Amino acid sequence: MPEHPVTRRSIGQRVAVLLCLACAGSAWAAAPAGTSAPAAAPGALAEPPALLLPVPGISASELRDTFGDGRDGGQRGHEAIDILAPTGTPVLAVDDGRIVKLFLSQPGGITVYQFDPSGRLAYYYAHLERYADGLAEGQAVRRGSVIGYVGATGNARPDAPHLHFAIFRLGPEKQWWKGEPVNPFTYLGGKPP
Ligand SMILES: [Zn+2]
Repeated sequence: MPEHPVTRRSIGQRVAVLLCLACAGSAWAAAPAGTSAPAAAPGALAEPPALLLPVPGISASELRDTFGDGRDGGQRGHEAIDILAPTGTPVLAVDDGRIVKLFLSQPGGITVYQFDPSGRLAYYYAHLERYADGLAEGQAVRRGSVIGYVGATGNARPDAPHLHFAIFRLGPEKQWWKGEPVNPFTYLGGKPP
């Protein structure tokens, strides 16, 4: 992996990534390796929707593509992007849609599953400090709505609060716990180095 000029943020991000080796937190964590969606998977979107960055104050150029980072000794990919931010930073819905599940998991901590308006994609937000007041399953949300706050619940390191954000392509059964991971990096406007 090519190295970039070291900035304070990149040090922080690298530390967070190193510290977040166990970080996964999805119900799909047990999916067999090699199930990442190929570009031409059935039901693939012609063009990824441009999503709102879920953490205010972070620009797309600051994102690091951590989707393929090894977890559990390389047994599985990370299948998400980690966005470092101080505890209590608002977490924004990346798209319009519906809150499908508020779920407390051991690895992910306090998490939210949101479906996009078409019901083809699920958005997963993990390690939250808490939910936004009044957030409820079934609730419609708009892009930019505050749905929770950055934290370090689940297996995130307490000294490296961050948002673990994942996208899953849903199957026809539209089950929130079952989908094919898609790399969020380009959806969020990230540009490969
Ligand atoms: Zn993560």
